[in-house]
Amino acid sequence: MKHIAIIGSGFGGLSLAVRLQAAGHRVRIFEKREKIGGRAYQLKDSGYTFDMGPSLVTAPSIIRSIFESAGRRLEDYVKLVPLDPFYRIFFHDGSHMDYSGDAEQMKAQLAKFSEKDAAAYDDFMRDMKGIYDAVITDGLGKQPFDTIGKMARFVPRAMRLNALKPVAYMAKSYFEDFRSHFMFSFHPLFIGGHPFRAPSIYAMIPYLEKEEGVWFAEGGMYAIVEALGRLFEELGGEITTSAEVDRITVAEGKATGLQIDGTHFPFDAVVSNGDVTQTYRRLIDPAHRRKWTNRKLDRQKQTMSCFLMYLGTKKKYPKLAHHTLILAERYKGLIDEIFAHKKLPDDFSMYLHVPTATDESMAPEGCESMYVLIPVPNLKANTDWEVEKQDYADKVLEFLEAWGMDGLRDSLEVCHLFTPADFETQLNATDGNAFALEPKLTQTAWFRPHNRSEDVDRLYIVGAGTHPGAGVPGVMLSAEATLSCIIEDLGVGEVVSSPAKLAPVQE
Ligand SMILES: Cc1cc2nc3c(=O)[nH]c(=O)nc-3n(C[C@H](O)[C@H](O)[C@H](O)COP(=O)(O)OP(=O)(O)OC[C@H]3O[C@@H](n4cnc5c(N)ncnc54)[C@H](O)[C@@H]3O)c2cc1C
Repeated sequence: MKHIAIIGSGFGGLSLAVRLQAAGHRVRIFEKREKIGGRAYQLKDSGYTFDMGPSLVTAPSIIRSIFESAGRRLEDYVKLVPLDPFYRIFFHDGSHMDYSGDAEQMKAQLAKFSEKDAAAYDDFMRDMKGIYDAVITDGLGKQPFDTIGKMARFVPRAMRLNALKPVAYMAKSYFEDFRSHFMFSFHPLFIGGHPFRAPSIYAMIPYLEKEEGVWFAEGGMYAIVEALGRLFEELGGEITTSAEVDRITVAEGKATGLQIDGTHFPFDAVVSNGDVTQTYRRLIDPAHRRKWTNRKLDRQKQTMSCFLMYLGTKKKYPKLAHHTLILAERYKGLIDEIFAHKKLPDDFSMYLHVPTATDESMAPEGCESMYVLIPVPNLKANTDWEVEKQDYADKVLEFLEAWGMDGLRDSLEVCHLFTPADFETQLNATDGNAFALEPKLTQTAWFRPHNRSEDVDRLYIVGAGTHPGAGVPGVMLSAEATLSCIIEDLGVGEVVSSPAKLAPVQE
């Protein structure tokens, strides 16, 4: 048994903590914030409950396999509810589509705007299955991508599958109508990727959603955070909150423990689930960093950020589905502006999470709990959010009222804002990124910071900043990749893998 520290309690940190503790190690989590969860934090106010970050549960079999690694059943901890539609997408011209995993329904909706697109749907899904098989079925997402040999073996297969082509250009080769083009290319935005830059490895997400569904955890995403925390403690793991790690101590090239508020905590190995750029820059002395020098860290591209409004309304808005997108006319132009960091755009596309559409317990009776998420430039744009945030929020509320949410401002009982500056101060996110390093080709797989540190022995990374990347399924797979490195190095424990083939969850 080895004594292992994990810095941070995001989904990646919690998943690895459970797996390591179940494999026979003694694990302790140190979390800076008052509660566990990281980006998947929870806010409660006046009877309203909000998930502050992730809201879509996809690939539940990956979650289930974490519980199975400890001999438990997910179903005994969390109740998952299937959603239909997955998303309701409103376009600038007033048209809308209900996006789901039902091929016939999807083709009927696509046909309203383009017969050709309806006919292309099956071909698209068949081809995306090829990429899904590489990443999920053959397990590339859950293996460390730490040798150039692995990358060299992957590239020819990726090229055959067209998986290196940017997602939006891949979708363009199947679909002609702007609606279908958007629907099958926007998914990288959910993990901080630019659809016109992110490789088509991410174009398999629609297939993954179709295969396993989109779900909601009763009580919200935080129910999964709490379940993982509970399971970890039942296994004997220890969680210390309000404990910000100041330093990872290193001797003779090996991580030896942590420094917190002047106290040294010795460990056999250390894992960081915190922002990967900050982990190297702030927690490890430059003398121990040959690869991740400050200059190299400066060259890494952080993702865009998000402006979030958590709204509790006395009124119901049945026009909104559980997951709703409201889009501006501009697609590439708007995203280019956000990613180029120059300024806050005047128009906006937004995502609304309305859990009360499924679970009334998230708000007082007859009321709605929702959040509005708007992708915005990260802090490289030099926006002073303390000055700007109220005006920006007012502009969004005004827009939503004009769009069709009558009486929104008068019905507000609760309104909390979370800005890029909060991502930086509360989550230690470099430049206030919302999703760690941008998932572009030159920051993917072998090019991403490795699960096993390239600079310091017995130091490991888990979560959105390492392979395979952001998103709840991504960081949970990263926990498996990191686990296999630790077990290989320490020689204790065994990897209980997620199923190669994903099967739909039985209720
Ligand atoms: C608004 C939003 C919506 C999203 N929606 C979805 C979605 O619907 N579906 C989906 O799959 N994904 C979604 N994502 C992405 C997903 O939430 C993240 O990729 C994932 O949760 C990140 O997990 P992580 O393991 O990297 O850790 P994080 O959640 O980033 O947590 C890291 C933790 O480390 C702690 N920490 C940092 N530094 C220190 C230190 N020095 N000492 C101690 N603790 C430290 C932080 O406080 C934090 O708690 C969303 C993200 C955001 C921001």
